[in-house]
Amino acid sequence: MSRSDYEVVMGLEVHAELSTKTKIFCSCPTTFGAEPNTQVCPICMGMPGTLPVLNEKVVEYAVKAGLATNCEIARKSKNDRKNYFYPDLPKAYQISQYDEPLCEHGFIEVEVNGEKKKIRLTRIHIEEDAGKLNHDEFGGGSLVDLNRAGVPLIEIVSEPDLRSTDEVEAYLKKLKSILEYIEVSDCKMQEGSFRADVNVSVRKKGDTKLGIRTEMKNMNSFRSITRAIEYEVDRQIDVLEDGGKVEQETLRWDEVSGKTFSMRDKEDAQDYRYFPDPDLVAINLSDEYIENIKNSLPELPESRKERYLEEYNLSEKDANIITSSKYLSDLFEGAIKICKNPKAVSNWIISDISRILNECEMEPIEIPFDSNQLAKLVILIDKGTISSSIGKKVLEELFENPRDPEDIIKEKGWIQISDEGAIKEVVMKVLEANPQSIADYKAGKDRALGFLVGQAMKETKGKANPKMLNEMFLEELKK
Ligand code: ADP
Ligand code: MG
Ligand code: ZN
Repeated sequence: MSRSDYEVVMGLEVHAELSTKTKIFCSCPTTFGAEPNTQVCPICMGMPGTLPVLNEKVVEYAVKAGLATNCEIARKSKNDRKNYFYPDLPKAYQISQYDEPLCEHGFIEVEVNGEKKKIRLTRIHIEEDAGKLNHDEFGGGSLVDLNRAGVPLIEIVSEPDLRSTDEVEAYLKKLKSILEYIEVSDCKMQEGSFRADVNVSVRKKGDTKLGIRTEMKNMNSFRSITRAIEYEVDRQIDVLEDGGKVEQETLRWDEVSGKTFSMRDKEDAQDYRYFPDPDLVAINLSDEYIENIKNSLPELPESRKERYLEEYNLSEKDANIITSSKYLSDLFEGAIKICKNPKAVSNWIISDISRILNECEMEPIEIPFDSNQLAKLVILIDKGTISSSIGKKVLEELFENPRDPEDIIKEKGWIQISDEGAIKEVVMKVLEANPQSIADYKAGKDRALGFLVGQAMKETKGKANPKMLNEMFLEELKK
């Protein structure tokens, strides 16, 4: 059988760190990047005899996430102990939720190649994060940093509804943008605030039974998720084609070798010996409490998108890109309030800004300039003070060292040449140097005009007003 006879099936477990000020069961701060073990107390260090107290904000944020993803919210739920030993988990159990999660039966709509699809969510539950091991820094030893222990997480579990890497990426991006919009997580993937366990199986097309899956833990970049899935799918198909059986196991993806390695056999729920945490009371939520949270939800990406289509006439594709991130969307809205040119702002965001973000592997939240500065750039071009090619250079400056675009162009001497005499001088010079182009144009090759304008732009280091150049060349060529 060939590869195309197989269908890929995936389900994701996403962990998002909640951006509450304090941890889930104690009042230690949650800020990222502090000196190791400076944000700890006996509770989050797992000392015997300490008592956890649930942070109410964690419940609120999880309910928000549940409502924004079409989940049913449980009126009654509880915390359970999930027992396992790991050096970064001093209590030897993680407080999580087992059979009574806060949220269940939701869905998210994704769009891939113009087709809309609902991805079902099994559940969203709350739990505590573990600490972090720092390996190899001190003569091959490992040191534990418990700052992250007790940082609140929501785990969002999907049904095995995903069928391609494109769907996985679309799902993760949509989920990430929803969590950003409702401001429950900063979703910084490089800091581990948004990470996914990817469950992958394959089966013959037409089979209704699911294949045996493997799970790749803690993936935190779209690129490695795609690579890992592609590798793992190939590996599983090879195993099956050789007449073997896929082992259900937990794998580690190695970015350098581009391969997956076995970490451990897959645990079953019974291995964790879940039981209700006797130190914590049940979580009871009133209808009124849930209703209040529902009413406080901000505008979500879907509805912003619809608004952009109607109010600003953006294309569906452009509106999708801009609303995929709250930061881009806020940047867009902030800028158009000032410069009143939605089309131009949208073009900057979807072309040059997105390209630079990609090239520098930056996330929108890391954009160093603000909507005010972006608006100024658009205004300078609209007024004809600078050309759009100088605009691109200004944008690069904004990324390098953000400041008022007007100061940038003064400092760099980038103001557009719109003086008729100066333009004429360049035009004549370029015509003199390119007699062949004149002949070509006269022989009906319109492209020659573009070449001449390009030469004049080169001559003026991009500072000549392109519209004036065009007009003046035409005038001269018609003579
Ligand atoms: P756990 O990994 O904690 O044991 P589950 O068994 O509920 O939890 O499954 C976790 C994730 O694996 C879910 O997102 C689910 O959709 C996905 N999953 C389950 N079975 C398969 C399968 N055969 N192929 C792909 N994904 C699967
Ligand atoms: Mg799992
Ligand atoms: Zn603490």
